[in-house]
Amino acid sequence: MKKTVTLLGSTGSIGTQSLDVVEMQGYEIFGLAAHTRVELLLEQVKKFSPKVVVVTDTTAAEKMEGLLMGISNPPKLWKGREGLLELASHPDAGIVLNAVVGIAGLGATLAAIESGHDVALANKESLVTGGYLVTEAVKKHGVHLLPVDSEHSAIFQCLQDAHSAKTLEKILLTASGGPFFGKTKEQLEKMTKADALKHPNWDMGAKITIDSSTLMNKGLELIEAVWLFDLPPEKVEVVVQRQSIIHSMVQFSDKSILAQLGVPDMRIPIQYALTWPDRFPSPAPELDFFALKQITFDRADEETFRCLAACKKAITKGGLAPCAANGANEEAVKLFLQDKIGFLDIGRLVEGVVEKEAYGDNSYTLQDVYDCDQMAREYVHSHL
Ligand code: NDP
Ligand code: MG
Repeated sequence: MKKTVTLLGSTGSIGTQSLDVVEMQGYEIFGLAAHTRVELLLEQVKKFSPKVVVVTDTTAAEKMEGLLMGISNPPKLWKGREGLLELASHPDAGIVLNAVVGIAGLGATLAAIESGHDVALANKESLVTGGYLVTEAVKKHGVHLLPVDSEHSAIFQCLQDAHSAKTLEKILLTASGGPFFGKTKEQLEKMTKADALKHPNWDMGAKITIDSSTLMNKGLELIEAVWLFDLPPEKVEVVVQRQSIIHSMVQFSDKSILAQLGVPDMRIPIQYALTWPDRFPSPAPELDFFALKQITFDRADEETFRCLAACKKAITKGGLAPCAANGANEEAVKLFLQDKIGFLDIGRLVEGVVEKEAYGDNSYTLQDVYDCDQMAREYVHSHL
């Protein structure tokens, strides 16, 4: 039987690359969800014939209604956040690939898990903001949480031998270092959004591209790794690997290290999340070691890139501290993309919110997560 996939965030960078994989593997699409880009969503509907589409933005949803009238056998259209949750929890959804950006993806991740679906997770913010709720729900409902993020897919691939995985000692989380690697605070002060949007190795959505330039992305990924692989934060070490060829490594108790390598092409980890535990030919090119010649390693500069230091502090504090860091970052990135704050303000605001309170332990509810997110956004606006 063909595998069925429901893709949330289908119009984004991960979403469109996921559809390349779906096409190559010949999977069925049950549902597609997008926020604003309805013209692209319409093209995807024509090509993949989903049973349901969701548009979360109200104005865009009205527009989609009109567009669907122009095609034969249109799918059902569900609207808003409720529509997204309904799609993620539909019994026929199959494996739910969550490629929504930001905390907006958290509810859908939980809804899919609670409805018994395996989840292929690109939306790292689900684990950063509600890591305890997500991992407890996975245990309770006996589903699989399959990482799409390239570093976490690499770690997951290195841990497939369940016997040696029991002796996992340390995770070496690789980082490209982003476009501003080696820059001083004085140089960073003047960086604009155009500078920050130029990533050396990956072509991604705007928010994660900014997160890569501040090293917030690595901080979010460190938190994501703590939840996914159940290691304390001090056992996750960030290693700058400028070429993005080693996607991460694991060290066992005998000091043996396994790494996963490949060209920087998200279709490899996306496909592995969908085909796991099997492997199939992929649309990605082969790594040419002779053209590459060398791979390099450096330490991350946490003194300059405060977001990474703030995320470490947040996960060490625990409770809702990572959620606060994420909320402040989402709001600060939005303001930076609107040219309303400077590059270094992002780190200042994230660090400030983490230090603001104790943030409790893991006995929080979903409503607590949303309240904390709101508080962090308000913190940003009152500390500009
Ligand atoms: P994009 O910005 O390219 O795409 C985001 C997707 O989410 C779009 O389909 C967008 O819809 C939708 N969306 C935006 N806001 C909302 C909302 N409020 N409710 C529902 N849907 C919404 O992001 P990326 O594809 O780059 O990233 C997606 C996730 O994957 C992020 O969590 C990111 O950290 C993670 N990730 C991305 C990688 C990459 O290479 N891009 C690598 C590893 C992880 P629309 O476009 O229609 O407005
Ligand atoms: Mg990553």
